[in-house]
Amino acid sequence: MPAATSAPLALRCRGCGRRRLQTAAAWRCPDCRGLFDLADFTPVPPPLAELSGRPATLWRYAEVLPLTVHPDISMGEGLTPLLGVPDRPGVGVKTDHVMPTGSFKDRGAAVLVTAAARLGVTRLIADSSGNAGIAIAAYAARAGIACRVYLPATTSTRKVAQLRALGAEVRQVPGSREDAAQAAMLAADRPAEGEGDGFYASHVYQPLFLHGTKTFGYELWEQLGGRLPARIVLPVGNGTLVLGVHLALRELLAAGRIDRLPSIVAVQAAGCAPLARAWQHGALDPAAPLPPAGPGTIAEGIAIARPARGAQILAAVRDTGGTVVSVTDEQVRAAHADLARRGFFVEPTSAVCWAALAAGLVPPPSGPARGSAGPDGSAVPEIVLPLCGTGLKAEPPDPAPPSGWTLTDR
Ligand SMILES: *Cc1c(COP(=O)(O)O)cnc(C)c1O
Ligand SMILES: [Zn+2]
Repeated sequence: MPAATSAPLALRCRGCGRRRLQTAAAWRCPDCRGLFDLADFTPVPPPLAELSGRPATLWRYAEVLPLTVHPDISMGEGLTPLLGVPDRPGVGVKTDHVMPTGSFKDRGAAVLVTAAARLGVTRLIADSSGNAGIAIAAYAARAGIACRVYLPATTSTRKVAQLRALGAEVRQVPGSREDAAQAAMLAADRPAEGEGDGFYASHVYQPLFLHGTKTFGYELWEQLGGRLPARIVLPVGNGTLVLGVHLALRELLAAGRIDRLPSIVAVQAAGCAPLARAWQHGALDPAAPLPPAGPGTIAEGIAIARPARGAQILAAVRDTGGTVVSVTDEQVRAAHADLARRGFFVEPTSAVCWAALAAGLVPPPSGPARGSAGPDGSAVPEIVLPLCGTGLKAEPPDPAPPSGWTLTDR
């Protein structure tokens, strides 16, 4: 495994192309306000055989991560089970709802907070619809970094309770998810008011977060014996999972570890679907003038009206030959209940991919079937989707559906 890198990481602005070294203060380009990518970083994934015997966490992909594990900060995140679904041959679910804080956001948070600790940060701020803030707060607690999280006032009470228990200072902001983000950005840029020694641990702006979420793609590749399904169905709001998986796919292809890209089917909730709408209109950027985002949705984790990396998300999906679709709240409720009846208790947002599959919105794989045998003789699923967040910290969408065992004395 490569040695730890302690040199500062380099960033490149997507707007003006300027390169600069990472600092605690710069979360977007000071010249043009563009978003950053990592610069000078073209990692080469190791052959599959070299991975055996490594720690059972996402840090096993050391060659492709921009920094090494910090043993005090890591909570053993990653390598979540990939399961088949009994009556749905060809479909696999990756169970990221069993991550340390209950969502895939731990992948990005573990990497981003580790970087913040290496920068010597003593406090950080984040904004979130819930899960990203919780993940950042948990890893910040591990790192001994003070944490403040800006949330929409409507965030599930259980998520707020979890944040407080983790020691985060919670600022609930009236209005939408965007208003919470605005409040965080204002604080991130306000050194005169004593906020300036902080670090904006934004899962949207900080590219390191995406280099954490990309491990979802690497795990899938490894768990399927060096293959990938034809379709990867992912929820999309700010695109941290879509963009992370796209990074992994491109890195694997560039290194010749796979021979073609699976297509990404990105799923939005119809009540807030700027990306699906832009996709339908053939727009390159959801910020282009389009009808308003919609009336809202129970899928609170993807209710993002103006995704900052919107154009990048659309380009990533297009690059894989994929598509962006949307599902209604009614379909999400049904999918949520259906998953629960299979033993998977997830939050409503986590049911959007299952809903898209049930609604026939995932195009069937074309070309030669890839359901060929994997390393242990088992079939490689044609379609994989994640369970992104546990149901334990969200408000359930409905009273429990009637059970087969009716207790007549109630
Ligand atoms: C964050 C989150 C999403 C969406 O991720 P984006 O990065 O906003 O695209 C989906 N599901 C759950 C449970 C989440 O926490
Ligand atoms: Zn710039």
